Amino acid sequence: MLIKEKGLMTYKNFPMVPRVVFGRGSFNQLEEIISPKRKNGQSPFIFLVDDVFKGKAWLTSRIPLSYGDSILYISANEEPKTSQVDALVEEIILNNNERPSGIIGIGGGTILDLAKAVSLMLTNEGSSSQYQGWDLIKNPAIYHVGIPTISGTGAEVSRTTVLTGPERKLGINSDYTPFDQVILDPELTKDVPRHQWFYTGMDCYIHCVESLNGTYLNAFSQSYGEKAFELCKEIFVHDKLSEKETQDKLMMASWHGGMSIAYSQVGVAHALSYGLSYLLGTKHGIGNCIVFDHLEEFYPNGVALFKDMKAKHNITLPKGLCKDLSEDEFDIMINVAMGLEPLWENAIGKDWQKTINHEKLLSLYQKM
Ligand code: NAD
Ligand code: ZN
Repeated sequence: MLIKEKGLMTYKNFPMVPRVVFGRGSFNQLEEIISPKRKNGQSPFIFLVDDVFKGKAWLTSRIPLSYGDSILYISANEEPKTSQVDALVEEIILNNNERPSGIIGIGGGTILDLAKAVSLMLTNEGSSSQYQGWDLIKNPAIYHVGIPTISGTGAEVSRTTVLTGPERKLGINSDYTPFDQVILDPELTKDVPRHQWFYTGMDCYIHCVESLNGTYLNAFSQSYGEKAFELCKEIFVHDKLSEKETQDKLMMASWHGGMSIAYSQVGVAHALSYGLSYLLGTKHGIGNCIVFDHLEEFYPNGVALFKDMKAKHNITLPKGLCKDLSEDEFDIMINVAMGLEPLWENAIGKDWQKTINHEKLLSLYQKM
């Protein structure tokens, strides 16, 4: 992807996750993987774990705790906030004599993003809200490991951690954000509720549609995006796979979808979904689905296939989300969405402002 720097066109030199394990049961290797990273007996590993696993011994009994290691159970009911990251960092600092050896996130996009953000904020001063943006982080994060338990967001592979702050919903995008280690164990996704499986899976599908139909597309993004798109069709359209194959393939689709957008950008659905999430707290997966359902004019083929998949899996999306909103509230959402310029430029082109304006976005939001 081309970026303009000091008047010269250069290509983005972006970091990738340096180590990844894939396989059913690979979660059992966690101890062997992290042990060499322990600094000393005073410097613990902190496990940030989705609280949906509280009391689920099949998973929690396999978390290797020693010395002063601890598990912090975190709810994924709301998306990560900068205030939540700051509070977690404070708690970790106050409860430990030394800086931790590492942060291990076990959960979906919500927990993975929190793990990335906490690991960054343990070495960077101030509030996480100061770092929302691009390349504002100064110091490398502490060692951090991502272990997804639901597939689709690509958060396990991306260079960002999406946070809602006092002023904006925006990621901490930096070269230090990606995980040092990822463990892809599809077995961990076995109990994901059906509707959530669809919503988060569709996040991956929408990443592919937005990347493959964007003006930023290049051979790098295309190769990953096409693979992820094919996998999504195998899983959600053809539906001939066993449960295990479905889990394995969706985990890889998420990875490839994330890789595809790493070197391009998302588009209209994500821009509008960020607005919904900022004002109404609508979660990413379902928010993307609600928005995407109304985007025929931008992505005719992608939306037609989405509607087929929705019907096939008996998914009914909420309606009337925006029906009681005031003019001011619409303005807030529209401003958040319009502010995401690279997404619009990718979706529509450099002259996107000719067609995308306040009225246009209002008419779209009014349908939702
Ligand atoms: P999530 O982490 O919010 O989890 C969704 C629900 O599934 C929660 O109720 C959770 O408890 C449950 N769940 C997770 N794993 C489960 C399991 N194995 N069994 C049973 N229940 C389980 O969902 P998500 O869609 O993965 O993540 C959304 C978040 O990801 C948003 O905050 C979004 O901003 C972020 N995101 C980040 C990136 C990135 O690149 N950093 C990309 C896309 C989305
Ligand atoms: Zn997404």
